[in-house]
Amino acid sequence: MSDVIVIGSGAAGVCAAWPLVQRGLRVTMIDVGVTDQGAGAMIPAEPWSKLRRSDANQHLYFLGERFEGVPDGKVRVGAQISPPRAYVAADAPRLLPRDAPGFVGLESVAQGGLASAWGAAVSPWASEDLAGLPVTLEEMKPHYDGVAELIGVSGQAGDDLSAHLHDSPSMMPPLEMDTPSRAVFEAYLSRREEMKRAGLALGHARLAACSREHRRRGPQPYHDMDFWSDHGESVYRPRYTLRELLEAASFESVTGRLATRFESHASGVVVQAVDLATGRGERFEAAHLVLAAGALGTTRIVLRSLGKLGVRRPLVSNHSPYFPMLNTRVLGKESSDRRHSLTQITGFYRPGGAGAEAEPVQLQCYSYRSLLLFKLLKEVPLALANSRRIFQALTPAMSVLAVHHADEPSAEKWVSLEADEGVTEAGVPRDRLRIRYEATKEETQRQHRTEREVLGLFRRLGCYTLHSRAVRLGPGASIHYAGPLPMRASPGEMECDGECRLSGHPRVRVADSAVFARLPAKGVTFSMMANAHRVGTLLAGEIGGGA
Ligand SMILES: Cc1cc2nc3c(=O)[nH]c(=O)nc-3n(C[C@H](O)[C@H](O)[C@H](O)COP(=O)(O)OP(=O)(O)OC[C@H]3O[C@@H](n4cnc5c(N)ncnc54)[C@H](O)[C@@H]3O)c2cc1C
Repeated sequence: MSDVIVIGSGAAGVCAAWPLVQRGLRVTMIDVGVTDQGAGAMIPAEPWSKLRRSDANQHLYFLGERFEGVPDGKVRVGAQISPPRAYVAADAPRLLPRDAPGFVGLESVAQGGLASAWGAAVSPWASEDLAGLPVTLEEMKPHYDGVAELIGVSGQAGDDLSAHLHDSPSMMPPLEMDTPSRAVFEAYLSRREEMKRAGLALGHARLAACSREHRRRGPQPYHDMDFWSDHGESVYRPRYTLRELLEAASFESVTGRLATRFESHASGVVVQAVDLATGRGERFEAAHLVLAAGALGTTRIVLRSLGKLGVRRPLVSNHSPYFPMLNTRVLGKESSDRRHSLTQITGFYRPGGAGAEAEPVQLQCYSYRSLLLFKLLKEVPLALANSRRIFQALTPAMSVLAVHHADEPSAEKWVSLEADEGVTEAGVPRDRLRIRYEATKEETQRQHRTEREVLGLFRRLGCYTLHSRAVRLGPGASIHYAGPLPMRASPGEMECDGECRLSGHPRVRVADSAVFARLPAKGVTFSMMANAHRVGTLLAGEIGGGA
């Protein structure tokens, strides 16, 4: 029997397992574990510009064998996932059924989960972001630092972002900014005091990407292929930690299993799962259970195990619109081919200016190039032939600004598990996750006002939006979810305590973002990983490891 079962091999699962395995504890990781069937391997390790000029097979990975990389109609969720990464979202609709009209979020049953395709932007939460949680920044810091060392984080320590973020001692130098972003950043530096007074701080993005060799990964090759391939392994994927975990004799990975429910007893836990190859049920036993199946996946397992069908739980998800912008500072200028594709500049904007009380929003500035022109053309109200010529000339000067807003729970944002008797032929439960998400008019108006202020400041830096409207993919499209099983100092039913134990089930802990009651405007993943590392560390201390 294992000491601990961890469900899920995503960013949360591997970070919770790490400290347990470091202490010599026996850990079994249960996962569906869909893997890339070779799509990534067919991409040559060459720069984007060379592949576009000369690879006769480029359509296979840029567009997909069945042109699945060409979104028809409206921009769909998953548009951020390129054909070689399609496996990340594959099979989830079949194995994790849901009824969620208008909520366009993604779930994953892949090895490594959603972070096999993530944009790797890391934003440690500050004290104000942790307000209301029964854990302080001081308690979180060692875990931010432990995760930063494990995954490799780059950024510029001591810059204007440091007032908003905790920078870990292992942080590597920042990745090089590309030419268009450098022009924006230099414009910011030349008006820095004025911008800071107005509430805007910009700096090199903090990224889970190695600017130098780290734990046998990296350095960043600057091929501008980060949305398509993992050559060089600079950008963090959870499978790299899984690879390290598998080197330990006390760690076991059991894949092809869909965990359906748990029972917890005074002396241990039992997890029921379906072997997806045979459709047969299986039981796994351990002294403790760590749930890390993604905020929605974990909620499904908890509600089913506790028999809480039809009970509404809170759900929050950042609203994150995009603004395509023309960067006039580089119009007609040569851009360097050497670049990475991830976010180049991170920013924070505090509405009302530097001394104001309002919570800041987070900004991410990308260059457009490697996302390919055709996606942009369908957003433009010009004849295709004309817009192709115009945008071929303009693309080197295109930037995309993403604005992340905080999200608060409300009665109109919820998730429940709806009963449906029995299982499918493959043994998959037929019950469905029901999601309803409606922002209030006041929230939306406040967000639009803030966005207008941000765009006004970017105009002063030489960047002009191309649309009068933002690209809004809809609720859930940020792919940041939280809220259903919140961590509280005095937890009630279906809530967790300060160490993320599920109320009434002291042997069951939740390690993913289901435990955060609200989402600040910063990406959730790095804080979730740090918290998962904290959960694993506290549990290892409680059990008492051998090593
Ligand atoms: C394109 C894209 C870009 C993103 N960019 C960023 C970014 O820049 N910054 C940021 O902070 N976040 C970003 N995110 C979000 C980030 O990827 C997720 O927050 C994070 O990966 C969630 O990790 P997780 O471990 O909680 O869950 P998941 O990644 O969903 O992993 C869940 C794991 O559990 C397994 N599982 C689920 N259900 C079961 C079950 N019943 N039985 C067995 N196994 C199960 C799955 O197979 C998987 O291994 C991005 C996401 C996407 C898709």
